[in-house]
Amino acid sequence: MRNAIIFSIGNELVEGLIIDTNSKYLSEKLKVLGYYVVRIETLPDKLDILVERFKAGLLEADLIITTGGLGPTEDDLTREAMAQALGCKLVIDEKIAQELVERALKYYGKAPESVKKQAMVIEGASVLDNPVGTAPGQMLQLNGKIVIILPGPPAEMIPIFESITQTIKTDDALYTRRIKTLGIPEAVLMNEYKDIIYSNPNITVATMASYERGVEVRLTGSTELKEEIDKVASELLNALGEHVYATDDDSIEDVVYKLLSENSLTISFAESCTGGMISSKFVDIPGVSKVYKGSVIAYSNEVKTSVLKVPESIINTYGAVSEECVKSMAENVRILLNSDFSIAVSGIAGPSGGTETKPVGTVCFAFSSDSFTRTITHHLRGNREMIRKRSTLLAFDIARR
Ligand code: ATP
Ligand code: MG
Repeated sequence: MRNAIIFSIGNELVEGLIIDTNSKYLSEKLKVLGYYVVRIETLPDKLDILVERFKAGLLEADLIITTGGLGPTEDDLTREAMAQALGCKLVIDEKIAQELVERALKYYGKAPESVKKQAMVIEGASVLDNPVGTAPGQMLQLNGKIVIILPGPPAEMIPIFESITQTIKTDDALYTRRIKTLGIPEAVLMNEYKDIIYSNPNITVATMASYERGVEVRLTGSTELKEEIDKVASELLNALGEHVYATDDDSIEDVVYKLLSENSLTISFAESCTGGMISSKFVDIPGVSKVYKGSVIAYSNEVKTSVLKVPESIINTYGAVSEECVKSMAENVRILLNSDFSIAVSGIAGPSGGTETKPVGTVCFAFSSDSFTRTITHHLRGNREMIRKRSTLLAFDIARR
């Protein structure tokens, strides 16, 4: 198996100002492409350190990927350091230089000499287009090794990396299917469906349980096992039925979005304890405006009664955390925002506010259409953050059923 080393570069990373999400993303992808990641190094923007660590990495790994330090300023040194470590020259790519100067003139009215720094390419490297930002990536194949240099911002790094996955894929590449479930505990799932899950000894099985995503079963094997893995996946999908909310890269909000957009339907939300989290998750999906009308964040009882027209008698009799209240919130937000469907959530996220009859973690959900309104109450465990995230997941779950 081929070895890889990931270098995450930037003073902000070693100073603890930002979290290195790039290496998490890259190591997950590299595994599937057939690489063994021997280590991940986080390094400051310091030339001598970078050169020394790159040299060490080049001796050891078949693939080296760096992210960060490709900007136009003095402190961005990744290009220079890699050129030195490789013993290669940096040459200016006139086409990129021209584009950078034109862009700078267009946006700022002037083009300082430093913008051309981003047009410096390691001799022999191919330039990887950056569709989002200014600094292009670079890829160099030398003595059977691959060196890839990518910009730091994830929104730029990810599309560039995706454009080269087919080029760097190895014979050890893996095939994975993911089955995401809700409403069935991990231990029960793995026990009740073990005959299917472990039916093929060549397939590696892994499970992951989290309060934000439920329980996920992962089936992995070499790409030659694709058909066998698909077969086990489809048997498991059939057996689990309604428990499955999504497969592979889809999230629960993707599934709700697809159901709505395929049928040209719209939705709106009335959020109390989630405080906009449901809306925020939903608008992460590009193109969601086709199906999403808007939300009312009715955190206080006053907003529930004045904006959402929940009758005061409901709040006085049943409380704001009740199926009666979320039913009214859902029905009224659907009419107010003129959507086909709506979801309402009201709960006690804690740490205070719980009572004997309604302890912290009591969360009520409603899903409303013009012909029916369905409600459900869940009793969730965990701290405030966990309860709010789990509520967001369960809100989408009520919509897909
Ligand atoms: P730029 O041209 O934007 O300066 P760059 O390649 O020089 O690009 P950096 O300056 O190292 O990149 O980082 C720019 C921003 O990208 C950081 O402030 C941070 O928000 C994000 N970023 C950088 N590295 C990482 C990382 N490893 N994980 C997550 N985000 C990162
Ligand atoms: Mg920078």
